[in-house]
Amino acid sequence: MDIVSIINTSVEILKKASEAAKKIKDAEVKNLLADLSLQLADAKMAIADIKEEMSKLREENLSLRAQKNKEEKPTVKNGCYIFDNDSSRLYCPTCYDVSGKKIMVADVMFVKKCNSCGGIFDAKH
Ligand SMILES: [Zn+2]
Repeated sequence: MDIVSIINTSVEILKKASEAAKKIKDAEVKNLLADLSLQLADAKMAIADIKEEMSKLREENLSLRAQKNKEEKPTVKNGCYIFDNDSSRLYCPTCYDVSGKKIMVADVMFVKKCNSCGGIFDAKH
């Protein structure tokens, strides 16, 4: 159960408790229920703030990742790209150049193939 439905359920319970409190006409109980109602409203607002903050951070994270990927300079090896001189991992140059995505190429017979764009690279060992 997520936090919003927990709070909504709490509000429902509070409404029922308020109805029950009307019958007993206890002022202290009514005041406590009113306080609880205000606290729940504050909690709802706090959650909205957290959600907004999270979505900002998510966007920031995405743009930082995109920036980091652009800054990485590939080296060409056997028609594919390698990063950080790690020649055990060959990447599709087309996908990287077009969209900045690092897609590892797979061995297919005597060539390397990108399973994302379908590019074939003549990677002789
Ligand atoms: Zn590709």
